[in-house]
Amino acid sequence: MLLDLSEILKEKGAQLEYKDKVVVDFPKEEIEVNGPADVDLTFTNAGDTIWANGTVSAFVKLACSRCLKEIDSKIVFDVEEELKKGATDEDDVVFGINEENKVDLSEIIRQGLILNIPIKTVCESGCKGLGDIKGPEKKIDPRFEKLKEIKF
Ligand SMILES: [Zn+2]
Repeated sequence: MLLDLSEILKEKGAQLEYKDKVVVDFPKEEIEVNGPADVDLTFTNAGDTIWANGTVSAFVKLACSRCLKEIDSKIVFDVEEELKKGATDEDDVVFGINEENKVDLSEIIRQGLILNIPIKTVCESGCKGLGDIKGPEKKIDPRFEKLKEIKF
């Protein structure tokens, strides 16, 4: 999703508030977003660069770290990024503003989500996982207990 920054590029100090739901579609193997991302950003012309500040949140499909069940996990992250028109590799900015004065919001959302995916997620706090392999209880099935009593 490209956002036009033409208006605020004209004047230093100019601000643009952008608050909307943004539909994103990323490669499935990278990150799977469920529903639109909630974007609340303020873009400020700081002279040489444009600053983007605010928050973004989205529901991302993740697998439970214990049982691998698919869960929708809400990821919220703060944005504090410098955008620059005609940015080159030498510039220390991550996001460029293209020739048409537009910035790719999807890319800001994508990178933010990927950086903020929790290392561990569980479907519920008491998730027992796939099986208690190291569990202490190696209880013998009562049916087998009965078998022991049988004398041949
Ligand atoms: Zn689980």
